[in-house]
Amino acid sequence: MGEIHWADVVAKKLLERDNKHRIATGISPSGHIHMGNLREMLTADAIRRALIDANGEAEIIFIADTFDPLRRRYPFLPQEYENYVGMPLSEIPDPEGCHKNYSDHFLTPFLESLEILGIDVTLKKADEMYKEGKYNEAIKISFEKRKKIIEILREVTGRDVDDNWYPYMAICKKCGKMNTTKVVDYDDSWIYYECNCGYEGKASYNGGGKLTWRVDWAARWWILNISCEPFGKDHAAAGGSYDTGKRFAKEVFGIDPPFPVVYEWINLKGVGAMKSSKGIVIPVRDMVDVLPPEIVRYIIIKVKPERHIEFDPGISLLDLIDEFERALKLKDRAVELSMVKEVEYSDVSFRHLVIVGQIANWDVEKALEILQRTGYKIDEVVKKDVERRMSYAKKWLEKFAPDKIKFEVIKDVDKIKLEFNEKEREFLKSYANKLHKDMNPEKIHTLVYEVAKDVTIKPSKAFQAIYKAILGKTFGPRVGYFIKSLGIEWVKDRFYSIYEKN
Ligand SMILES: [Zn+2]
Ligand SMILES: [Zn+2]
Repeated sequence: MGEIHWADVVAKKLLERDNKHRIATGISPSGHIHMGNLREMLTADAIRRALIDANGEAEIIFIADTFDPLRRRYPFLPQEYENYVGMPLSEIPDPEGCHKNYSDHFLTPFLESLEILGIDVTLKKADEMYKEGKYNEAIKISFEKRKKIIEILREVTGRDVDDNWYPYMAICKKCGKMNTTKVVDYDDSWIYYECNCGYEGKASYNGGGKLTWRVDWAARWWILNISCEPFGKDHAAAGGSYDTGKRFAKEVFGIDPPFPVVYEWINLKGVGAMKSSKGIVIPVRDMVDVLPPEIVRYIIIKVKPERHIEFDPGISLLDLIDEFERALKLKDRAVELSMVKEVEYSDVSFRHLVIVGQIANWDVEKALEILQRTGYKIDEVVKKDVERRMSYAKKWLEKFAPDKIKFEVIKDVDKIKLEFNEKEREFLKSYANKLHKDMNPEKIHTLVYEVAKDVTIKPSKAFQAIYKAILGKTFGPRVGYFIKSLGIEWVKDRFYSIYEKN
């Protein structure tokens, strides 16, 4: 018996507290939402599924922090966005003009990804929650108990907090910024503030501003009745926002803080351009276009949240997919928690589809023919599975695979202008003479050595001649399987015509 999966461990602890759970996630849509952010959602989703599998009830509330201020002008933003720094994301125009506002621009593709990944969430946009008055009560409580809040902040963070401070950022009516204002007073209807721009005004409880992050976090636990929340390790540091949040929950809002699940970062490696230009990330939306959703889920779900993930979308991803396919046969729990819908896997590995797809020039019918020729039994499951996963294999190959595994069968023999010397021509002809359609891949492979010996050419040169004659380059997939896949007759014809032409 293997170790109990981490999500089942968390679910067990949660069920000891209650049978019904609301798991919160929160992401600030200030830029492309990347794989690191996805860990938050998938950690929550694995726990949700584990709770349901253990007969509990669970749902995920995804709070999009659309009311956070823009912290700085990110490298991907045009110069004029300098003017929007300090304004709430929901009140800033879409940098590309295609959505209602800045936050929707980054949030929309992420929501599509969640759908594809089978992560079912109830979405709450922070700006709408404030504007609809959902926070009004929490704001009033925070103001009434602000002495307590100040005391907790001082004790937990060691920060020097001014006695006149309010845990609230009003949006200045004149300059639109929320990080330049200071609350000076409040009554039942209004929050009074002064801004660095010189303006003095009053903000409405309904969306005139927002609670500062640490207090906002605890407030939403109370408002939304949250019982569990995964969050990044930065929030879990000593004196960090969970430490203050715990105390705000108890001492300000009178609730228990949610069960914390702290997760580590995901580092991206192996992709040339991304390595060199720091700050560039793979948006989740791009990732789910290239990889089957169950693989994207597995990358994250198989690893305990407290361990960091070194993510390499390049060649080593094939090892990870091999591992997934082996684990699938063993009914592994991480795989079970990663499957999105009723997809049936065939015996054809993803690694193999990368090769077959290239030989077949990504034509599904041809690929199935090749698989049949090389010993696979083709039924409806195989057909559906090959069609689905081969399209991912193609996209992965184009986007992330190194050139050394890419090839293309040259259809027109006249296009092979490479020079073949006398020995190579002799080898190709003798090899073609001995190739027989009943040979299996292993026999086809060993035949290279036998014929090379006969015509006294080095085996390495013999292999190169084969690749040159088919691909126009000196390397390719394993010869036995490759020739079998292409069809023995086709290969014989090719080698004879090279012999005659050169
Ligand atoms: Zn847009
Ligand atoms: Zn102002």
